[in-house]
Amino acid sequence: MSVIASVKRPTMECENEHFLMTQRQIDEIAFEMGLDPELHERLRYPKRALIVTVPVRMDSGVVTSFTGYRVHHDVTLGPAKGGIRFHPEVSLGEVSALAMLMTWKCALMNLPYGGAKGGIRCHPWDLSLGEKERLTRRYTSEIINLIGPDKDIPAPDMYTNEQTMAWIMDTYSINVGHSVPSVVTGKPVSIGGSLGRNEATGRGVAYCAQRAVEFSELKTASPTVVIQGFGNVGSVAAKILHEKGFTIVAVSDVYGGIYNPKGLDIPRLLAYISEMGKVENFAGANNVTNAELLSLPCDILIPAALGNQIHSENMDKINCKILVEGANGPTSPEADQYLHDKGILIVPDILANAGGVTVSYFEWVQGLMHLFWSEDEVNKRLEQIMGRACDQVFDLTKKTKLRPRMSALRIGIGRLAEAKRLRGLYP
Ligand code: NAD
Repeated sequence: MSVIASVKRPTMECENEHFLMTQRQIDEIAFEMGLDPELHERLRYPKRALIVTVPVRMDSGVVTSFTGYRVHHDVTLGPAKGGIRFHPEVSLGEVSALAMLMTWKCALMNLPYGGAKGGIRCHPWDLSLGEKERLTRRYTSEIINLIGPDKDIPAPDMYTNEQTMAWIMDTYSINVGHSVPSVVTGKPVSIGGSLGRNEATGRGVAYCAQRAVEFSELKTASPTVVIQGFGNVGSVAAKILHEKGFTIVAVSDVYGGIYNPKGLDIPRLLAYISEMGKVENFAGANNVTNAELLSLPCDILIPAALGNQIHSENMDKINCKILVEGANGPTSPEADQYLHDKGILIVPDILANAGGVTVSYFEWVQGLMHLFWSEDEVNKRLEQIMGRACDQVFDLTKKTKLRPRMSALRIGIGRLAEAKRLRGLYP
């Protein structure tokens, strides 16, 4: 641990368990890479955090107040970039931790962005479309001074989507008096979104899974895959891996999972979900709980739902050869070390799910330049950037024997530290 750990100071509001767990990653790699203690200290906390109250008239006529957050962790390399999530567990600590991960992710992918995250603490599944729209618009107006195409560009995350981004873009545009598509990414194509953005995170996850199979020299014709979470990230990863000949043996959503060791018919499952709204009771598979799903034997496990799903209490039950982190922060630090020691290759979140922010960057650039690329062009450029980042992380891992997460952090934080050193400390 560097000297900063010995300095006494009052606790910050964001320092909940989730935040401290994420902060431990930079503490570990700072020591390993001999990071300048001043830079280390500056990178351990968010730069700014805004907490807002969002009053919403519900369909019943009653007004309910929700708490919303927007956090910028660092903006050294460019405008802040990060998703907005709607979830009952959203807190200042969680959003700050996720903003920090966004900083490392953008730096690792060599994108000209800093890290941000936002969210509203709510039960999105209990809200009508109208309530969601009013919630989103009022939240946008409350954080309007933080966001903008040169300042902070939100994107979708858990329980937010293209429609949410369209409402944010519209609210912002009406407030400034002209259309500003580049204030958000992940918006519908008809209002300036990029082809390929909706599938980009899942596509990147699938690409990393393939690269990890090559790196670990797994000799299986059709590697078996288990996926926790079947939303945007999980379902797209399943669809692409299925098309590439992988065998998806189990998937789950918030209600539970399904398992067939011989493989699930993914196109039929996608059609089933769009009708039934959940994976449970899919014909030709057995129902399993989310806890059971994580311990199923497989070649590749892809957590693509919430954070902290693999931890000290279930890490000894994990039964895969490769773990590809589709979700943000799904593995606790103890579990990360334990699984690595057991020989499991972990492709860390800041690499595995970086496809989304990479195509968000393409969307932002296309918007600013008023030109549009074909889907094929977008996917090719995505593969190029993901491929380069995978090569860098796997090469460093091979050379140093670091855990892949530490390799990824070392590359990202190394870039950022150099930029911070050159820019200096104001005043
Ligand atoms: P989503 O809202 O589209 O889907 C979330 C899925 O997780 C749903 O299937 C939901 O039913 C399931 N789920 C929720 N709670 C669960 C639980 N307790 N157990 C099992 N499943 C549960 O969200 P998404 O956009 O797919 O995001 C999933 C994860 O990927 C999040 O951690 C998010 O931060 C991360 N991520 C998303 C993107 C993106 O572009 N969407 C980019 C980077 C990272």
